[in-house]
Amino acid sequence: CDMGVLDNLVANTAYLKAQGGDDRELKKRRRSLSLPKPEECMITRATLEKDFQLLCERQPIGKKLFRQFLLESNPQYVAAAEFLDELVDWDLAEVAGKDKARMNIINKFCKAHSKSFLSYLVGEVADKCKAVTDKDFEDVMNGKVKDATQEYLKGKPFSEYQNSHHFDKFLQWKEFEKQKITEKYFYEFRTLGKGGFGEVCAVQVKNTGQMYACKKLCKKRLKEKDGDSMALLEKQILEKVNSRFLVNLSYAYQTKTHLCLVMTLMNGGDLRYHIYNTGEKGLEMNRVVYYAAQVTTGILHLHAMDIAYRDMKPENVLLDSFGQCRLSDLGLAVELPGEKAINQKAGTSGYMAPEILKKEPYRMSVDWWALGCSIYEMVAARLPFKDYKEKVQKEEVARRTLEDECKYDPKYFDEGTKTIIALFLKKKISARLGCRTNCALNSKHEWFKCINFPRLEAGLIEPPWVPKPNVVYAKDTGDMRDFSEIKGVVFDQKDEMFFKEFSTGAVPTAWQQEMIDSGLFDELSDPNRKESAPGLNDK
Ligand code: ADP
Ligand code: MG
Ligand code: MG
Repeated sequence: CDMGVLDNLVANTAYLKAQGGDDRELKKRRRSLSLPKPEECMITRATLEKDFQLLCERQPIGKKLFRQFLLESNPQYVAAAEFLDELVDWDLAEVAGKDKARMNIINKFCKAHSKSFLSYLVGEVADKCKAVTDKDFEDVMNGKVKDATQEYLKGKPFSEYQNSHHFDKFLQWKEFEKQKITEKYFYEFRTLGKGGFGEVCAVQVKNTGQMYACKKLCKKRLKEKDGDSMALLEKQILEKVNSRFLVNLSYAYQTKTHLCLVMTLMNGGDLRYHIYNTGEKGLEMNRVVYYAAQVTTGILHLHAMDIAYRDMKPENVLLDSFGQCRLSDLGLAVELPGEKAINQKAGTSGYMAPEILKKEPYRMSVDWWALGCSIYEMVAARLPFKDYKEKVQKEEVARRTLEDECKYDPKYFDEGTKTIIALFLKKKISARLGCRTNCALNSKHEWFKCINFPRLEAGLIEPPWVPKPNVVYAKDTGDMRDFSEIKGVVFDQKDEMFFKEFSTGAVPTAWQQEMIDSGLFDELSDPNRKESAPGLNDK
C-alpha cells in the first residue's frame, strides 16, 4: 500500500543520510566528551592483564600508544619500532617497490655502522642479520629477526612502558571502554533483514557517527525455543574473531526485551542476491576470483582458531559499501580444539559435504566442500547437485552429492575454474583442496595467481565491483514478515544471569578501532583540547 511505500522511503532516506554523515550534532556531542580522570583508573590498572600481545599488538589504541612510547624513548627502541613498521611496508609493497623497500631495510637496520642498527640482537640472530642477503631476506628478517625483535620488546621496553605517561593514557581509554552500553548509545535506522530470533537493523553510534548492524535477539523467543546457549556461543565466537573477512562484533548489550549484537555493517547485499537478482545470472569471473579469495582468507582465519564455520554459502557472504566481502551468521560455527571431530548434522541442503551426510566424524573439511559449491554457484547460478529453483527433496540432493559426478557446463566454466572446484568437491576428505597434508595452501593455487594475498589481507586490493551509494541492497521494510507476539514466557534468575553474561558491552579491539577511525582518539588526545560542558558523557 502507499503508506508502506512512504514508510520505506522515509526509512531509507534517514539511513542513507546517516551514512553520509551530518556532523553538526556530532561535533557538538563530541566537544562534551572527556576521558575518565587518571585517578578513576586505579582498579583498571590493578586488574588489567599485563599481556604484551593483547595490550601492545592486538588492541589498536594499545598498539598506537606503545609505538608512541618507543618512538619517544632511546634510539634502540626507535630502531625496533621503525624496523617493524618498515617490514610491514615491505610485505605489502607491490613488485615495483619491493626491491627498494628491501634494500632500505638492509642498509638501515642490518649494517653495524648505521645509527638504526638493531643493536639489541645477540648471538646467532645478530650474525644472521648482519650477513643477510637479498636471497634469504624473507627467511631472516621476516622470520628470526622479527621474532627476536618482538621478544625483545616484551621485556624491558614493555615494563618501562607500564610506568610511562603513555600507559596512563591507555588506562584512561580502557576505563572509558568499560562504560555501560544501552540503547541510548545508538540511533536506530531501518531494518536490514530478519533472522530466526529477531530483526537486524542499521544503527549509528551517537558519539562517533560510526554505522553498524545490530542483530536483535528477542529474549522471550530465545527462551521459548531454547536458543540461549546457541546465542551465547555465536556471541563468544564473534567476539573472538578479528578479521577483515568476517563480520566483527563491536558491542553486546541488552534492552528490556532483547539481546543485541552490534556488528560490522554490510550494506552491499549478500552474494546470493547478486548472483540471482541483478540481471545477468552468475557473476563475472574477476568478481568470482576476488570474492573466493576473500572468503578463503576468512575461512582460514576461523580455522586458525580451530573454528569450523559450517554455513558457507553465498547467502552468508555480505558485501560492504566498498564491495569487499565478509562471512556473516556464525550461528552454526563450532569450536573444535586440538584434534576434536564431530559428526553432528549441520549446514544447508545443497552445500553439505559427503562426510556430514554420511554422519561421519568431520572437522574443517566441510567448509572447503561448501566453498567449492559456492564458487560453482557464483559462476553458473545453480548448485553442483541442484538446479536453480529445482523442486527436489533433500534426500535426493544428498544422494546425488554422495553418488553423482559433478557436471561442468562449458558455457560457464573455463578449465582453471573447473579444476579448482573439482579439487574442493573431492568426496574423499584426504584428496580435497584445503584438507590434504603436506600440500601448498589454497591461496597458493594457480587459480588465485592474480591475487596478492598479503595486500588482500591489508585491504589494499581494489574491489572489482562497487555497490551504488544511493541503493539499499535489502528487501523493502514492508516485505519482511513480522514476528508474532509471544505470551506466557517469564524470566527466572537463571535467565537474568544469562542475559548479564551475554551483555559485556564494548569489545576492546573493535571499539578501539572505532575510536581511531572516527578521529575521536586524536581529538581526545589533543593536549590543547577544551571540553564545552563536561559531565555529559552518559547522555
Ligand atoms: P539468523 O542467524 O537468525 O539467520 P542472520 O545473522 O543471518 O540471522 O541475520 C539475518 C539477516 O539480517 C541476514 O540474512 C541479512 O539480510 C541481515 N544481516 C545480518 N547481518 C548483517 C550485517 N552485518 N549487515 C547487514 N545486514 C545484515
Ligand atoms: Mg541467517
Ligand atoms: Mg544464524
